[in-house]
Amino acid sequence: MTDCLFCKIIAGDIPADKIYEDENVFAFRDINPVAPLHALIIPKKHIAMINDLKPQDAEVVGQLFLAAKEIAKQEGYDETGYRTVMNCGEAAGQTVFHIHLHLLAGRDLSWPPG
Ligand code: AMP
Ligand code: ZN
Repeated sequence: MTDCLFCKIIAGDIPADKIYEDENVFAFRDINPVAPLHALIIPKKHIAMINDLKPQDAEVVGQLFLAAKEIAKQEGYDETGYRTVMNCGEAAGQTVFHIHLHLLAGRDLSWPPG
């Protein structure tokens, strides 16, 4: 998708602080972090939001979580704990319409989230 911010980051047209990449997944540090570790883990395939997921996307969604596990370990938060969040739609606070799993760690995370 040519007008998608995160597709442009995957393509290297917009710089990002890459933290992980494999065949299907790309991850980078959030530009406005809300925790000491705040990564965004995205599929290389453009999918706008959870509502658009198709059965054939199940594998890549699983791969986002496998990447989260790897990044958490790489950054030293696998033992202390971390949170993953995927917002869907405006009421949930989704602002970029290319699905992304937030990975947050490094501070106490309250529950319920705001
Ligand atoms: P959401 O509100 O769930 O859609 O999350 C979008 C996230 O993308 C926000 O946390 C933003 O800070 C982050 N973001 C927006 N633009 C960039 C960028 N160019 N590089 C890294 N993170 C970004
Ligand atoms: Zn995209």
